[in-house]
Amino acid sequence: MKRRPARKSTRASSGRSAGRLDRDDRRHLVHGFISPAAARDEGTLQLARGRGIYVWDTSGRRYIDALASLWNVHVGHGRAEIARTAAVQMKKLAFAPTLLGFSSEPAIELAARLARWAPPGMTRVFFTSGGSEANESMIRLSRLYWRLRGRESKYKIIALERAYHGSSTGSATLTGLTAFHKYYEPLMPGVVRIANAYCYRCPLGLRYPECGIACADELEKAIEREGADTIAAFIAEPVQGVGGVIAPPPGYFERIRAICDRHEILFVADEVITGFGRLGTRFGISNWNVVPDLIVFAKGVTSGYLPLGGVILREPIYAALEEAGRGFALHHGFTYSGHPAVCAAALANLDIIEREKLVAHARRTAPYFARRLQTLRESAIVGDVRTAGLMAAVELVAEKSKRTPFPAEAAVPMQVRGAALRRGVIVRGSGDNVVLCPPLIIQRDVIDRVVDVVAESIREIESQL
Ligand code: PLP
Repeated sequence: MKRRPARKSTRASSGRSAGRLDRDDRRHLVHGFISPAAARDEGTLQLARGRGIYVWDTSGRRYIDALASLWNVHVGHGRAEIARTAAVQMKKLAFAPTLLGFSSEPAIELAARLARWAPPGMTRVFFTSGGSEANESMIRLSRLYWRLRGRESKYKIIALERAYHGSSTGSATLTGLTAFHKYYEPLMPGVVRIANAYCYRCPLGLRYPECGIACADELEKAIEREGADTIAAFIAEPVQGVGGVIAPPPGYFERIRAICDRHEILFVADEVITGFGRLGTRFGISNWNVVPDLIVFAKGVTSGYLPLGGVILREPIYAALEEAGRGFALHHGFTYSGHPAVCAAALANLDIIEREKLVAHARRTAPYFARRLQTLRESAIVGDVRTAGLMAAVELVAEKSKRTPFPAEAAVPMQVRGAALRRGVIVRGSGDNVVLCPPLIIQRDVIDRVVDVVAESIREIESQL
């Protein structure tokens, strides 16, 4: 690959020249989810500031952030109120843990607020610093629950193909994308993988609705194969995000919930992307008529202003920990579980989401977002367009009638991403998909612009194939 020269010397907002930043970025900063060789050769896009749905790079160029940065900036950039609230808290008290018998007002208030946001009966909140850590906590809390209930053999976790649950060792094992496994073995023992509800490429070779949602029954088959007495939990994203915006059909999670109940298995909803309004509901799982046992959250809880994640537990799950008596202590927790300034930022973010009715806005805007994106199907290389609330994947194919994917090396979705970037719109190329996930504040005129740019970008890349 040709090496792009370091950028010319314009002033970045920090006062350092953009050229020097670019050079130091290539020399010193380790970037994830990208080839390190590509990061060295091509550099990265250095963002300097943002307002609303727009961000600017260090050379002053403006982009529409149609990815909410990393599926997380729900309320948009530049919300001074969140920054002010965090700063006030920092000035008052640098830090207090939620471990070893300490607590702080923002952590307590946020836990109580999240218990009100969550589905009925989900009352207990454990904080982490992000989604991967939250899934590690979920693994430990699920196993702990069964141990405390005297069911020592229940430790396995069933997860879906194409799931994304994080990139720490336990959460990466739950992740069902092979790129996160290759090179990193051995993985965490005790993870069982089953087919997901990917109707465009059904792993069971069936068609919806004649299939009768057979993919949900795969859970029961796996439980019978492994033995219910070995399984602690089943985990799924209400809509798979990184895996390609894959939403199960109506009835799927209702059946999953019934299977989990029948076999005494905890049902975990990983709401790291779908929580806090993304699907037009407070939590995404409410789009199905079920309540999970545990919710894993992160991202939208602070809109990315500061790092936070966690797990919300149903009361009977937590009850096992209390009922274990004073001789038992929870040996799990992180220094920054419930950091006061971070929790204060989360409270300010939830204030904005509630005051501006962004969950309802997302619900009202989603049909327009879907309608406009469906027009992309006209392209010969668009195989499928999947939307769920304010997230979408445009799946690109080499041959539409046969649904033949492009070879991975061609990186066609990444090329479309590059073409969109040149036109001032940030989307993501992920696997076979071009992915969109705008801030919840998006309005129709910006949706029009984003869809026009994605259409032009697809046309440009298609003409070069
Ligand atoms: N779970 C889901 C569904 C995610 O989409 C992500 C990140 O994208 C994670 C977990 C991991 O979160 P984090 O990157 O904050 O560790």
